[in-house]
Amino acid sequence: RPPLHRPGRTRVMVVANQKGGVGKTTSTVNLAAALAQLGQRVLVIDLDPQGNASTALNIDHHRGVPSTYDMLVNGDALADVVQPCPDQPNLWVVPATIDLAGAEIELVSVVARESRLQKAIFGHPTVGDADVAGDERFDYVLVDCPPSLGLLTLNALVAGEEMVIPIQAEYYALEGLGMLLETVEMVKKHLNQKLSVSTILITMYDARTRLAAGVAEEVRDHFGDTVLKTYIPRSVRVSEAPSYSQTVMTYDPGSPGALSYLEAAREMARKAQA
Ligand code: ADP
Ligand code: MG
Repeated sequence: RPPLHRPGRTRVMVVANQKGGVGKTTSTVNLAAALAQLGQRVLVIDLDPQGNASTALNIDHHRGVPSTYDMLVNGDALADVVQPCPDQPNLWVVPATIDLAGAEIELVSVVARESRLQKAIFGHPTVGDADVAGDERFDYVLVDCPPSLGLLTLNALVAGEEMVIPIQAEYYALEGLGMLLETVEMVKKHLNQKLSVSTILITMYDARTRLAAGVAEEVRDHFGDTVLKTYIPRSVRVSEAPSYSQTVMTYDPGSPGALSYLEAAREMARKAQA
């Protein structure tokens, strides 16, 4: 396999779907870990007060740890809240503490409340074009969104150029997507022209069921080539990993879940280069 080239500039990818339990967090941390294994410099921003991405990446996120909350509400610099992932090189994390649950309301009265995350990300010296940010630059910034379309997710949609929508290969998979896409259109029109849905990722795919195949086909009819060819299989190893504070990429690197996240990461990286 040829090595992956680093992109010419930082790709900010927002992992969003207001539906809970579709695989946002799992996909964020595993795609991030896979990209890091492939030699990319990757930053994960945990934007969900639950802090599940922080847990999976083995980052302490009890109250008082510098976090996404400090960046969004207090205006702290990204450099002051970012931590290296202890288990994997090339991977950094801004953890989420439970304080973030209050940010949804606290941000309402803050100046430029929808663009706080964008300001923090692009204010960082190693985000942006290769020639400006140098070798130290982040190649990917992956933002794990909460399961809602409030101010936190809005901040992510204003900060990112690309959106990754995980879709669970289950009945009702497309339910709620209309509202998500309307929100994207609204953001494009008023707040961030550059935003586009670049990647749809089918998760928890069970190849033994006709239902999963049917859902995948329906999603592909809707979204065409935006849908990655790699589907993430339903696998116990994937769901076990977070309870050991790991991604499946380190917990069981040879498992089908890990291999499919690796392949999905390659696809995502190649798509941009095409
Ligand atoms: P979200 O962030 O969208 O709420 P999660 O990533 O937390 O969704 O996933 C929801 C649940 O499904 C979690 O318990 C997770 O471990 C499990 N899960 C996610 N992906 C898989 C998979 N490929 N196979 C099995 N379980 C999965
Ligand atoms: Mg989540």
